[in-house]
Amino acid sequence: MEKKQFQAESKRLLEMMINSIYSQKEIFLRELISNASDAIDKIYYKALTDEALRFDKDSYYIKVAADKENRTLKITDTGIGMTKEDLENNLGIIAKSGSLAFKNENELKDGHDIIGQFGVGFYSAFMVADVVTVISKAVGSETAYKWESTGTEGYTIEPYEKDTVGTEIILKIKENTEEENYDEYVEEYRLKSIIKKYSDFIRYPIKMDVTASRLKEGSENEYEDYEEEQIINSMVPIWRKNKSELAPEDYENFYKEKHYGFDKPLKHIHISVDGTIRYNAILFIPEKIPFDYYSKEFEKGLELYSNGVLIMDKCADLLPDYFSFVKGMVDSEDLSLNISREILQHDRQLKLIAKNINKKIKSELQILLKNEREKYEEFYQSFGRQLKFGIYNDFGTHKEVLQDLLMFYSSKEKKLVTLDEYVERMPEDQKYIYYASGESNERIDKLPQTELVAEKGYEILYFTDEVDEFAIRMLMTYKEKEFKSVSSADLGIEAEESENNSSPEDTENKDLFDYMKETLSGKVKDVRASKRLRSHPVCFSTDGEVTIEMEKILKAMPN
Ligand code: ADP
Ligand code: MG
Repeated sequence: MEKKQFQAESKRLLEMMINSIYSQKEIFLRELISNASDAIDKIYYKALTDEALRFDKDSYYIKVAADKENRTLKITDTGIGMTKEDLENNLGIIAKSGSLAFKNENELKDGHDIIGQFGVGFYSAFMVADVVTVISKAVGSETAYKWESTGTEGYTIEPYEKDTVGTEIILKIKENTEEENYDEYVEEYRLKSIIKKYSDFIRYPIKMDVTASRLKEGSENEYEDYEEEQIINSMVPIWRKNKSELAPEDYENFYKEKHYGFDKPLKHIHISVDGTIRYNAILFIPEKIPFDYYSKEFEKGLELYSNGVLIMDKCADLLPDYFSFVKGMVDSEDLSLNISREILQHDRQLKLIAKNINKKIKSELQILLKNEREKYEEFYQSFGRQLKFGIYNDFGTHKEVLQDLLMFYSSKEKKLVTLDEYVERMPEDQKYIYYASGESNERIDKLPQTELVAEKGYEILYFTDEVDEFAIRMLMTYKEKEFKSVSSADLGIEAEESENNSSPEDTENKDLFDYMKETLSGKVKDVRASKRLRSHPVCFSTDGEVTIEMEKILKAMPN
């Protein structure tokens, strides 16, 4: 048996690794399974060029087995295996990646799925184990070897008996300490859920012996436990499938499986991009507002996968705030990850993907609006507010993206209309887009200020949401038409054109108006005869920037 020390640098690196690179201990399983998957990929690639090797997909698998009594966890694969040199070079030298070398040697630039690249993932096993044993037999090799290490002290290596090609990794799970409990890593249900979470889309079966229950033979109500080998992962990620192979139910099931929401998605968006940056994405527009949507607890973001392996639960950078309701995932082979594979090294790729996704969401919403109006309105009832906030925030920088998605209740149709629909049917002599603010549609219906505009046959948009008027202020215009509150003094309508100047009525009633002004002093600026009223005797109007409704909101806001 040979005993070797890790190099000094490696020793320090290893300590650092074990203690600080990863934020969660559970990812060791993701790393070991990824390595196993890489090892099977390698044998597959080798078989492509090696006549003597045959790759029969069905005989390749990864197996995870926990032994509670002995407190061990074993990960077995039928991959390419490691020679003695491989064990020394790839496991004995930290930050040396045999997988990266394999990719380079075999010039696997496109369409490959090998995950490894940093040469550190393996050591994450020491976060949960005191001793790690690797038994491996390389393809085409006569002898197998056993490599064993307790972490920082170095490793031993010796010939070993193993019949089949492949690798077995045995972790002696740490004893519990006062701060940390490690029991979960030999717990069947827990291991299953870790596999599901991170490695669900590994392309080879991940098997586990699972305790199941069945009716005792000959009995009608007595059950017995038995061991059953199950495949834990779903293997083929839905996002790698062809859109034409997938039915709406497939997407709905995926939405449920992933716990994106309790509702049914209103719409799914499946994106496959094969350009300067390659990625697949499946996005969902939920039907209902998540219960915590408008609370502080709500976190926006999409799941981020690198080559089918989960890297981030909620990557916030992929979604702008105004589309924060979108759920789903992105998978890309082209991400440069940092060493822990938890963070991205360069956000250039991510920015590109985010930009792309953003455009796609917008266009899909527009298509929904155009082709499935009812569904769009349902969406808008839930998330329209978020779009309006999106326009208002950041000083209106996103208005171009969002303005076509807005809808407001209209006086004419008594239903939601878009700004485009409004402008398209404006009579020629109408200069402005008119709106009226109020607590509810019913209240606005009764507003005296709307009378003249309505009489002219002009449509009025009803603003009942607090954010409406603020958002419109950011827009300023739509298709070069300015927005105008029905309560502003200058409505741009002929009948009241002279209203700003003094009219004969003003002079005739001067005494009365002066008396009213005096009585209401500090509350109104002026009292004038109006031409805009029909059935109401009096109304307020404003000539400043801020309408009465906005003023109410501003006053109610905490300072
Ligand atoms: P990475 O996967 O980033 O290369 P790791 O530390 O996870 O780094 O693994 C180091 C190297 O050890 C791998 O690149 C691979 O060459 C080798 N290796 C690890 N696990 C296995 C395995 N199950 N089968 C074959 N080779 C393996
Ligand atoms: Mg690895």
